[in-house]
Amino acid sequence: MIRFLRLRGPKFWPVFSFVQRNTSSAHLRRRSSLSSAALYAVEGEDYIGRSPVFDSYAYARAFQECIAEVDHVRGRAVHCHSLKHGGCLDLFCLNILLNMYAKFDIVDDACLLFAEMPERNMVSFVTLIQAYAKCGKLIEAVQLFHRLHREGHQLNQFVFTTVLKLFVVMELPELGRHVHACICRLGHESNAYVGAALLGTYSLCGYVDEARKVFDGIVEKDIVAWTGMISCYADNDCAEDALQLFSRMTISGLRPNNITLTSLIKASVSLSSLTLGKSIHGCSIKTCYELDRYVGGSLLDVYAKYGDIKDARAIFEAVPQNDVILWSFMIACYAQIDQNEEALVIFMRMMRVPVEPNEYSFSSVLQACANSRGLDMGRQVHGRVVKIGLDTEIFVANPLINLYAKCGNMDASMVIFSDLSNSNDVSWNTLIVGYMQLGFGEEALKLFSQMHVAQVPKSQVTYSSALQACVSIAAIEQARQVHSLIAKTTLSDDAVVSNSLIDTYAKCGSIKDAHKVFDVMKECDLISWNALICGYALHGLGTNALGLFKKMRDNKVEPNGVTFVGVLSACSNVGLVDQGLSYFNSMAEDYGIVPSMEHYTCMASLLGRSGRLNEAKEFIDRMTVKPSVMVWRALLGGCLIHKNIELGNLCAERILEMEPQDETTYVLMSNLYAAGKSWDHVALVRKSMRAKGVKKEPGRSWIEFHGEIHSFCMGDYSHPDTRAINAMLEWLHIKVNRAGYVPDVNVVLHDIDDDKKERIVWVHSERLALAFAVIRLPPGSPICIIKNLRFCQDCHAAFKVISKVIQRDITVRDINRFHHFEDGTCSCGDYW
Ligand SMILES: [Zn+2]
Ligand SMILES: [Zn+2]
Repeated sequence: MIRFLRLRGPKFWPVFSFVQRNTSSAHLRRRSSLSSAALYAVEGEDYIGRSPVFDSYAYARAFQECIAEVDHVRGRAVHCHSLKHGGCLDLFCLNILLNMYAKFDIVDDACLLFAEMPERNMVSFVTLIQAYAKCGKLIEAVQLFHRLHREGHQLNQFVFTTVLKLFVVMELPELGRHVHACICRLGHESNAYVGAALLGTYSLCGYVDEARKVFDGIVEKDIVAWTGMISCYADNDCAEDALQLFSRMTISGLRPNNITLTSLIKASVSLSSLTLGKSIHGCSIKTCYELDRYVGGSLLDVYAKYGDIKDARAIFEAVPQNDVILWSFMIACYAQIDQNEEALVIFMRMMRVPVEPNEYSFSSVLQACANSRGLDMGRQVHGRVVKIGLDTEIFVANPLINLYAKCGNMDASMVIFSDLSNSNDVSWNTLIVGYMQLGFGEEALKLFSQMHVAQVPKSQVTYSSALQACVSIAAIEQARQVHSLIAKTTLSDDAVVSNSLIDTYAKCGSIKDAHKVFDVMKECDLISWNALICGYALHGLGTNALGLFKKMRDNKVEPNGVTFVGVLSACSNVGLVDQGLSYFNSMAEDYGIVPSMEHYTCMASLLGRSGRLNEAKEFIDRMTVKPSVMVWRALLGGCLIHKNIELGNLCAERILEMEPQDETTYVLMSNLYAAGKSWDHVALVRKSMRAKGVKKEPGRSWIEFHGEIHSFCMGDYSHPDTRAINAMLEWLHIKVNRAGYVPDVNVVLHDIDDDKKERIVWVHSERLALAFAVIRLPPGSPICIIKNLRFCQDCHAAFKVISKVIQRDITVRDINRFHHFEDGTCSCGDYW
C-alpha cells in the first residue's frame, strides 16, 4: 500500500495550479501520512471507513488525489465524510477543497464553501477569482478582488498575475495600468512572474514601450520574460525589434522554447522573409522543437505564404496530425492556390484519421468544391455539415451559398440563405455575385436593393458587383442610383469602387460620365487609366483613347497588357494601321509584355479592316501560339468589308474546325457570298447549317425605362405595349423606305421568300426595342439599346436611316462595341 502511494505521488501537483506548486507540496511532505494511507486503504468501500485516526492532512491528500484523478464524485464523497465527522478541516485543507470545486467547474459549491469558511486568506480569494474567471462570471471575479483588497489580505505576485489575466479575459487589458501602479507601490515590479504577466497585458494593448520598461525592470529575466517581450514585439509589428531581442537572449545563454520560436516565425511572416523563416526553422530543429504543434503550425504559415506549398506539406506531414487547425490550414492552402483535388484528398484523409472537421475545415473544403465546380462532392460535404449541425453557422453557410452559386444552382443558395437567421454582408455579396456571374443581372440588382432596405453594411465587393450587374444589362439609370448611394459613403474615395464606376459608365454607354468619375478621383491607378482608355476604344473614339494613353505615360504610369488591348483596338477603330503596328512592337520591346490572344485579335482586325488582308494573314501565320477563333473571326470581318471570298472561306474553315456550331460565322459567310452575288454559295451555307444542326442563339435586346429593364426577343409579342410597338414599326418602315433604305435580306438564313424575310428582319429584337423607345422616351432624348449578339447588318443600315428620320441620337451596344447613330451615320464608320 505504501508503494502504491509513492507511485501515485507526482500526480499530487497538477501543473497549472500555483496553490499546489507553491505551498501544499512542502506542507504535505512535512507530515507523515499514516492517516492518509488509511484513507486510501478502504478505497471501494467506505472511503474513510475503518481508519481510526484522520485529520485535516489526510483529507487534504484525499482531495488532491481526487483533483489529480479528475474524480469529482469521490471528491464530494470525501467532503461529505469530513462533514459527517465533525468538520476538522483547517484553512489549508479547505483551500484545497475549494480548488477542487474550482477545477471541476462546480462554481456554486465553491462559492458556498467560500462563504462558510471560518477564515480565508489570499489563496482562498485567488482560487475563487480564478473559478469565476474560468466560467465567465467576470463581474463577480472583479468584486471578489475588491473584497480581497478591502479585507486587507496580502497582495502578492499570485494576486497580481491572476487579476492581470482576468483583465485580459475581460478584454480590458488597459486596466492593467492601475494594477501596475499597485505593483510598483508594493515593490513587485522586478519579479519575473509578475513582470511576464504585465508584459502580456501591455502587449495586448499594443503598449510596446510600457512593456519594454517592465521587461527592463525585471531583475532576473527567465525564458518566460524574454519570450513575453519577443512575442510582444512580434504581435505588434515590431519584427526587427523581436529579432534583435532574440539575439540578445541567445548571448545571455538562454535557449528558445516553442513559444519564442513561434513568435520569431511570426516576425519573419510580417517581414515577408522566407529566408528568415528558414533560419528559424533551422533553429527549431537544433532545439528539437520542429515537431511542436505551435512551431509546426507557424512554419506551415510561413512556407505557405512565401515559399513552396511542397515545403509546407512536408512540415505538415512531419508534425503530429491530431490538430484540426493544421489540417484545416493545409486544406485552405490548397484551395487558395486552386489545387482543389489536393485539398479534397487532405480532407478525406482527415476524416479517416479521424480528426473532426471544424467550421474552418468545412469552409475551406467547400471553397475547393466551388472552385472546381464539384457539385457532387460539395453535396456530400453539405450532408456531413448538416449531420454535425453546422449548417446554420455563418462561416459554413456562406461557403455553401457560394458553392451552389458557382455550380449554377441559385435556388439551393437561396434556400440556405433564407434559413439563416444571422446572414451577414458576405452572404448577400455571395448571392449578388452569384446571380451576376450567371448572367441574371436583374436578379442581382433586385437583391442589392433588398440588401439596401435591410440596412446591411455594403462593401467594395457589394458595390462593384452591383455595378457589374448594371453593366450586364446596361442599366445606366440603376448604375447612377448605385453611384449616388456610394457618394454617401466613405467608399466614394475608394479606388476599386471608382474604377468600377468608370468601367460601368463606359460600358453602359456614357463615356462622359466615366471621364467625370476619372477626373474627380484623388489617385488614379493603372486600372483607372485602363478602364477609361478601353472605354474610349469601345465607343470607337480612338483618338481620345490614344491621347489618354500619351497622358498616362506622361504621368509615369507603366502600361500593362490590358492598356495595350485598349490602345490597339483604338487604332483599329480609327484605321491607324502603322501606329498600331508600332504600338504592338513597342509593347514587347519597351515594356516586355508578351502578346496575348486579345492583342493578336486586335492586330488581325486592324490590318483586316484597313484592307491589308494578306499582311493580316501573314501576321497570323507568324504567331507563335495557335490562333484562336477570335483572331480568325476578326480577319473574317475584314474579308467581309473588302469582299475577299477566298480568304474569308479560309477563315470560316478555321473557325468551324474549332467551333462547328458558331452561328455568327455562318451569317458572316452568307453575307460575304451575298455581297459577291455568289448565290449558290449562300444556299450551300444554309444547307450546311441545317445539316450540322446549328442552333441560333436567340437575339435579345434590352432597354432601360424608368429604372426598369424591358427585354425583347425577335418577333416577341408578349410586351404589354405590343400594339403600339407594331404601329410604330410600320410607321418607321414607311418612313425609311421613302428615305432610300433598301432591306438586305441576306442576313436571314432561312429558305423563305424575300417578302417574308423582310418581315422577319423588321421584327429583329433591336428594332422592337427601338420602336418601344421612340414611343416611350420623351422626344429628343437619346436612346440606348443593348444587344446580346453581334449587331445585325441590316438593322445597322436601318438604324442609320432612322436616326436621320426621327432626328434622335441612338446608341447600340452589341457584343463587341458601341455604335452611336447620329443624323444618318454611325460612329463605327460601318467597319465592325
Ligand atoms: Zn437585324
Ligand atoms: Zn455602327
